[in-house]
Amino acid sequence: MIDNFRIALDPGHGGKDPGAIGPGGTKEKDVVLAISHLVASRLIEKGYTAYMTRMNDDFVKLEDRAAFANAKSVDLFVSIHANASKNPFGNGTETYYYPNSVNGKKLATKIHNNLIKLDLKDRGVKTANFAVLRLTKMPAALVETGFISHYTEEKQLNSEKFRHKVADAIMNGILDYIRGE
Ligand code: ZN
Repeated sequence: MIDNFRIALDPGHGGKDPGAIGPGGTKEKDVVLAISHLVASRLIEKGYTAYMTRMNDDFVKLEDRAAFANAKSVDLFVSIHANASKNPFGNGTETYYYPNSVNGKKLATKIHNNLIKLDLKDRGVKTANFAVLRLTKMPAALVETGFISHYTEEKQLNSEKFRHKVADAIMNGILDYIRGE
């Protein structure tokens, strides 16, 4: 049943781990927490069950994030991050799944296809051996929304309006996956 879908959202980093830090001082952990809250509230509004691996600025180990999703037996796991590069011009969005996970690839692709509609450079859907993707037992994707190390994208990621657009895109990707579109 579509309506019984349960989703775990995983805001990257947190607590003592700030994640990437932008040229203007923006911390990845704060941006991805805010976006994850927006995605969760949208999903709940639509009648789905959504969990978050952290609700606040807490440090959570990678294996504990996966264990949480596995213990809740959620149907989907979506980890939300912002990217960083030593090259200040590195920009765009990319989405990851665990190698050979057919449904992981499908989920990553659906989310990615919605994110690139936001005029973000398309860096593609890729495989990675990330712990949260490897250790979760359900279809899982990891989204790198944009580059916090990029002057313009850092500003975008700080804007409430853009965060809402990113949250809409991630939610629409999840819905596309659930509905098999
Ligand atoms: Zn990250």
